[in-house]
Amino acid sequence: MTAAALAPYACDPALSRGRRFVELAAPTRSDFQRDRDRIVHSTAFRRLVYKTQVFLNHEGDLFRTRLTHSLEVAQLGRSIARALGLNEDLVEAIALAHDLGHTPFGHAGQDALNACMAAHGGFEHNLQSLRVVDHLEERYPAFDGLNLTFETREGVLKHCSQKNAQSIEAQEPGGVARRFLDRTQPSLEAQLCNLADAIAYNAHDIDDGVRSGLITLAQLQSVELFERYRVQALAEHPDLAQTQRTRRLLYETIRRMLSEQVYDVIATTQANLQRAAPASADAARLAGPLVAFSVEMKALAVPLKQFLFSQLYRHPQVMETTGHAQNVVRELYQAYVAQPGEMPQDYAVRTDTHRAVADYIAGMTDRYAAREHERLTGRKWPV
Ligand code: MG
Repeated sequence: MTAAALAPYACDPALSRGRRFVELAAPTRSDFQRDRDRIVHSTAFRRLVYKTQVFLNHEGDLFRTRLTHSLEVAQLGRSIARALGLNEDLVEAIALAHDLGHTPFGHAGQDALNACMAAHGGFEHNLQSLRVVDHLEERYPAFDGLNLTFETREGVLKHCSQKNAQSIEAQEPGGVARRFLDRTQPSLEAQLCNLADAIAYNAHDIDDGVRSGLITLAQLQSVELFERYRVQALAEHPDLAQTQRTRRLLYETIRRMLSEQVYDVIATTQANLQRAAPASADAARLAGPLVAFSVEMKALAVPLKQFLFSQLYRHPQVMETTGHAQNVVRELYQAYVAQPGEMPQDYAVRTDTHRAVADYIAGMTDRYAAREHERLTGRKWPV
């Protein structure tokens, strides 16, 4: 994207706050395009294909994984960015990197690892995504990590506790954690990725949930955000009421729901931008949240989230898998802490043993974690 296409409040790669280690500019790519390419070529990115979103990777071939989820976030984010004059390349880079720090087994794995690490600084997946791109990737002779620009790293660190923000700020004064202490906003591109993330998972979790048989179209009729588009779709295409066309009805409903949320974000954000009129990306950071849903859309999304939480994420069948996953992570953690030599040498030799174990486990795919667990305990999944 050329700078001419960017709105004044967009992040301009020519004005980037730069990388932690100075590098020559790439001859044909902007700094944000280069960040995106580094993320796509990273080891952590390839592992996303075998990491759980909601359903375990081995439970079915058609469910979302962290990789397909990240691609959907990038697609939605870029569409919205283009309409708003924001930097598509930066949005793409942030979206593709936003889940790099996720543990195996989705939130179950993260909760277990966080509990294990309670006395050793805890475990936050957003902070772990930053650790992956700043420290854990090993690809360059001169530095650890991918040496991404400030703007991409700022977007990757979506949430951060005050305690962790203070410790990052101590190592990197005025850096990516500063905004959590100042209570300012990240770039508009980063704000956009957070919304695109929510739009994506609300939609694809409905799709995967129905596909799995754990939730039904009939149950979803109690959710207004879903039901209004189902009714609309049926009114325009009455043949979708036929049983053999149920899947098309589901897709058409989700498609309309997605589009309306995207249009809503664009219209609401355009109005916010007009009112705040930020003259630069930095002015936008100080103007409060600007990339947003309308009050109405935000209210409609709440019951959908509640529905997915109670009916899908807390479904007894999902909870049973969650229990196995947490046992695997906890027992792996105990095994490696007791015998760090069971980890590859670069983790085994670290003096911060607990953090080394957390880093090692967090990097695992679902199936690798299950295999390692079996090797160390002799017990097969489900455990
Ligand atoms: Mg996500």
